[in-house]
Formats: sequence, structure tokens, C-alpha cells
Amino acid sequence: MKTILKLLLAAAVLSASCRLPVVGISSEVTPGKDGAKLTYVTAVRKAGGVPVILPRVGNEKEARQLLRRVDALIMTGGPDFDPALYGEEILNESVGINASRDTSDLLLIREAVKMGKPVLGICRGMQGINVALGGTLYQDIPTQFPGSNHRQTVPASKATHRVILEKGSRLSALLGGADTIRVNSFHHQAVKDPAPGLKITGWSEDGIPEALEGKKILAVQFHPEGFIFDGQDFFLPVFKKGAIR
Ligand code: MN
Repeated sequence: MKTILKLLLAAAVLSASCRLPVVGISSEVTPGKDGAKLTYVTAVRKAGGVPVILPRVGNEKEARQLLRRVDALIMTGGPDFDPALYGEEILNESVGINASRDTSDLLLIREAVKMGKPVLGICRGMQGINVALGGTLYQDIPTQFPGSNHRQTVPASKATHRVILEKGSRLSALLGGADTIRVNSFHHQAVKDPAPGLKITGWSEDGIPEALEGKKILAVQFHPEGFIFDGQDFFLPVFKKGAIR
């Protein structure tokens, strides 16, 4: 009997040590539109995780049940958050919102933070983490930062602007102590005032927040998965250590 128990225990330890981290990827599954997030899926796999696409959730209970089954959460890119969520009116017609995705994203972020799951935010994901925890956004960079344009027209595999990283920040450490990185850029909104507990740790040269960090939270305004999908692995540690460990 003792031998059997020992064997079972050994098997359990072995299977636990072989288990790969499962990483949930937020998405919108919209009829008539491909809601799949292939670039994120590829990045998680390359980083040694098991990707799973999460559909929109409608309430706290559902969010919690889904999140119990993942080791980490990636909040992905997408449309703008309703400015009412941070106490502002819509600035102009450039702001395009999606109420059900807002609800779902805020539920996922708030529950993941409560549960202590690591959260990686990318683009809208970074903005969502900030809004969910009480921060505000710039609604339209070209209006609020005249002369500034963060919407590149070349593919995501090409870098178009630099980001200056705070010395000693987690992102800088993940990227080998880099103080300046070259990134892609597909956003017209950005973090304005960081939420309590969050810190901006990277800025574009024109002063736009491009990285945000907090306890078990790492967020970037650019798309590291766009480079990784193209075979450029400089940003792989963002997924390897930032998201899934
Ligand atoms: Mn940018």
C-alpha cells in the first residue's frame, strides 16, 4: 500500500512539474468578424505557454470561473473604452466604443487582479487595466498632442518610434536592461493619469505613456506579439516572464 502511495505521489509531482502554464487571451467573438487572436496565440506558444482564447464574459461569477482555469491573463488590443468609465465625455468622432467588450474586459481585469493572477496588457489591454483600476486616458492623441501620430501604416513587424524606459523598471530588466527600445504603434489613445498602484515606466519621445507596471501587472502600448509573429524574438521575454511566470 505504501509503495502505491509513494508511486502516486511521485507521479503527481512529476506531472505538476511538467505542466505548462495556461494563458487566457481576451477576445471578442463577433458574428461575421474573425475574433481570433493568432499573433497572441503564437507568442504565448513560443514563450512556452498553452494559449486559450477567452470569449467575452458577462458577470463576475463567469469571469472568476474562467480565470480559475488559467495561470495568467493577456488583455489584447481593440476599440476604445467608453470615456464615461473614467468620468469624461466623448471628445470627438474619432472615439469608437464597444460597450459589451468594455464590460467583459473590466470584469476580467478586476477579477484577475483580485485573484492575484499575472496580467499582461497590450494596447487597449494597457488602457483597460488603467481604466479598470481607476486611471484615465487620452482620448485622441492627434487632438491632445498636436503633431503627434501613433498610428503607423506599415506592418506590425516594423518599428516606427522609440520608447525610453525607466531605469530599473521591470520591462527594462526583462529586456536585458535596455533603456531605449524601438516599437510599433497602432493606437490613437493612451494612458493619461495612472491608476493608484500603477506606474508609467516607458514613454515615447513625444511624451506618450507606452509602458505601465504594478503588482503582477505589466502593460505595453505597442504590440510585441507583432514582432514575435514575424520571427523577431527581442520581445519574447515580455510573454515568457512578463505574462506566464
Ligand atoms: Mn506609440
